Amino acid sequence: MPVITRFAPSPSGPLHVGHLLAALQARRLADAHGGRCLLRVENIDQRAQHPEYLALMYEDLAWLGLSFDGEVMVQTRRFEVYRAVLEQLRQQGLLYPCFCTRTEIKTQVAEMGRAPHATLGYLYPGTCRNLPPELVQEKLAAGVPHTWRLDMQRVQDLIGCPTWHDLHRGTQRCVPTAYGDVVLARKDFPASYHLAVVVDDAAQGVTHVTRGADLFDSTHIHRALQGVLGLPVPQYCHHALLRDNAGKRLAKRDGARSIASLRGAGFTPQQVLDSLRTALRRGGIWQV
Ligand code: GLU
Repeated sequence: MPVITRFAPSPSGPLHVGHLLAALQARRLADAHGGRCLLRVENIDQRAQHPEYLALMYEDLAWLGLSFDGEVMVQTRRFEVYRAVLEQLRQQGLLYPCFCTRTEIKTQVAEMGRAPHATLGYLYPGTCRNLPPELVQEKLAAGVPHTWRLDMQRVQDLIGCPTWHDLHRGTQRCVPTAYGDVVLARKDFPASYHLAVVVDDAAQGVTHVTRGADLFDSTHIHRALQGVLGLPVPQYCHHALLRDNAGKRLAKRDGARSIASLRGAGFTPQQVLDSLRTALRRGGIWQV
């Protein structure tokens, strides 16, 4: 089977050196196997997107000499596909509307004596999972704001605890109920990252997902979704993240590490790539 990888940036700010690392990981893994590396624009959350960043992203990629294979997939063109998948999950009885606000969830979690999850935030304790059907209908009819959540208990009843493989960390077992009932859609946001990424990786035939270690926990959620949707399960490779001298993860909002600012400061593409190589030799510490 040919290897297919992808680089899937969210253009909610200028491309930065962390993105470059993710892009190179995907490109190299594909090249090492004579495979293909695809590009996908993850702009599903339109509230966070600015069109100028998308244009800048293409400019930066061209300046860096990074190229991708085949057609670019753009999430904002795929709302109908996500809607159909949500409908499928609804038909399977795996979705329910949740009327809790963020503050209410925070309070519920605190009252249960739980701390927020390190990378996934406040795991939803399932408050709206078993509301009486009449009350749900009443709230929906009254237009009470709500999200659509995945019922992980039902997911687990359906698929059990499936495994997935990480190229660095080996075989992993996914326990769906350990991640809370995640949001798959909301009014202004037709599909969450979790739903879109799973559907899109399958649609693009991605065989190897390379991405930062900050998304390792999310992969369990993605594996659960693949299970209920009957989608193929790619292999995963979660790479270490770049850090500054103090060991702090480079933030996306840190403009100084954007490709555009390095370009503006007179760096050549080769110098940027060499700096990244040096950072990787130093255990991921970026010093430019
Ligand atoms: N769009 C995500 C980001 O820019 C990456 C998602 C993924 O690789 O699965 O951080």
